[in-house]
Amino acid sequence: MNVSTKAANGTYDIVVIGGGLVGTSLALALHPLGLRVALLEAATGDNTPAPATDQRTLALNWGSRQILEGIGAWCQVEPLASPIHRLHVSDAGHSGITRLDRTLIGQSALGYVVPAHSLSAVLAAQLKTCGTIDHYTPAICDQVSVTDTQAVVRCSATDLSLTARLVVLADGGRSTLRQQFGLDACEKAYDQAVLVTTVLTSKVHGQLAFERFTLGGPLALLPLAGPRFALAWTLPADQAPVLASLPESIFLAKLQHCFGDRAGTFLSATARHVFPLHLTDVPNAATERAVAIGNAAHVMHPVAGQGLNLGLRDVAELAERLQAAHHEEHDIGSTAFLTAYVAARRGQTRRVLSFTDGLVRLFSNNVPGVGLVRNIGLNLLDIAPPIKRTLLRRTTGLAGRLPRLARGLPLQTHAKTPAIPHG
Ligand SMILES: Cc1cc2nc3c(=O)[nH]c(=O)nc-3n(C[C@H](O)[C@H](O)[C@H](O)COP(=O)(O)OP(=O)(O)OC[C@H]3O[C@@H](n4cnc5c(N)ncnc54)[C@H](O)[C@@H]3O)c2cc1C
Repeated sequence: MNVSTKAANGTYDIVVIGGGLVGTSLALALHPLGLRVALLEAATGDNTPAPATDQRTLALNWGSRQILEGIGAWCQVEPLASPIHRLHVSDAGHSGITRLDRTLIGQSALGYVVPAHSLSAVLAAQLKTCGTIDHYTPAICDQVSVTDTQAVVRCSATDLSLTARLVVLADGGRSTLRQQFGLDACEKAYDQAVLVTTVLTSKVHGQLAFERFTLGGPLALLPLAGPRFALAWTLPADQAPVLASLPESIFLAKLQHCFGDRAGTFLSATARHVFPLHLTDVPNAATERAVAIGNAAHVMHPVAGQGLNLGLRDVAELAERLQAAHHEEHDIGSTAFLTAYVAARRGQTRRVLSFTDGLVRLFSNNVPGVGLVRNIGLNLLDIAPPIKRTLLRRTTGLAGRLPRLARGLPLQTHAKTPAIPHG
């Protein structure tokens, strides 16, 4: 339910700050639990959780598909999503290739390609109908303070003040609130940017995705409906805006030269957009009364399409733990509870951050001999199904202990009155 953001006060169990894809998914995951939940989003109503101008196209892994199923959104997302059946990985200028197939994980797809704004629209529509989440928008949270038993969240522009037992920071990679809670971030800028667009090709793709490593950076083609691909082309930071502003025919010729003709001839491209790239890691993402999730806790290079997938896994783990703690009447904002959540998430987060950063460094390296090692590695991987299977199970979100939502199951509800009356 949309709530006036002007001069309001309220008391909640949980305030989620940031109504992007991750914050909104958490709110939807919590909605059946009987907790009082508020979601605060800086952007204005109809544009949340993300602006319709957002041109990112996201590769959702199988695990994310399950989580969206668990929160009841997958049936609306599926008609908008294009499945990936196979993935072809190559190294430009070398012969090494690896082919990955959905049969290796025994699922109907390795993942799905969906425009970010379509996914946002589905989640926003579900939020409107669920009725139990107080959705404050536009609400730019700029002050937080903590006492023994609660956190106070303020939006000074709209004179809004809310208290909660737990504040979840889902305010993205440029979070300004992390610091106010004393959560330190390690940051590293890549001297690269990613250019995104949609390209039409002369050849039917048969749900085949491509990842081609070039010295400038990785180039991914993700299959969309029809003979179209979402292109994510990582380039040196100074070259990306130049390529984005070239006339279409020259841009397509450069793309063809860099990628080759495996996907056919590139015929046209939609508007091009450039995103700067950086890595952020918040090793200790929780403190008394507050926890950071999604991009507020980790930002990575999009080379392996893992950022949102990792954020949704945060949602699945945190929601399950909140459900159990609420049922057992434990303090959901205590340091002990939140530290246990962070410890449970840390291993996967660290592995994915290292994996994506390592891929970028390995494949952008032209030190003599490294190219040869890469090629041997890609070719060996191609003929080693057990290693491919292990790698895929990790990158598709099937490895390790899976919380209920990551198995496609909704959280179990227990008949219980809200913990705190509405203030
Ligand atoms: C080009 C590109 C391609 C990508 N491809 C993939 C992919 O294929 N697969 C994948 O899994 N991931 C991918 N990612 C990563 C993915 O987009 C992000 O990990 C994900 O969208 C992060 O969601 P979030 O909700 O955590 O953060 P955000 O989307 O940044 O949302 C944060 C929200 O918080 C709000 N906010 C901020 N500050 C405040 C405040 N003070 N008060 C209230 N609200 C506030 C903002 O308005 C925003 O709506 C890609 C990223 C890029 C850039």
